[in-house]
Amino acid sequence: MIRRCCKCDKVEQGGKWRYLQLVPADIRVTHGYCPECFAETLAEIEDFIGAKAIGDFGTVGLPAHRRLGSSCV
Ligand SMILES: [Zn+2]
Repeated sequence: MIRRCCKCDKVEQGGKWRYLQLVPADIRVTHGYCPECFAETLAEIEDFIGAKAIGDFGTVGLPAHRRLGSSCV
């Protein structure tokens, strides 16, 4: 089984992440994040949580009662 980054499509082989033109059809693939995309995504999540902490949901586009972390009604 190989691991493919769900964000940039790099594939981990021997502990290194690189782009593969073709993944053999007989190999099972699981998805995750490469180290670069993991750091990038973590920063995006931290930005989102930071925005939530100060009450800025302008870019989320959900009504107040549907926002992440709000109680369900
Ligand atoms: Zn990636």
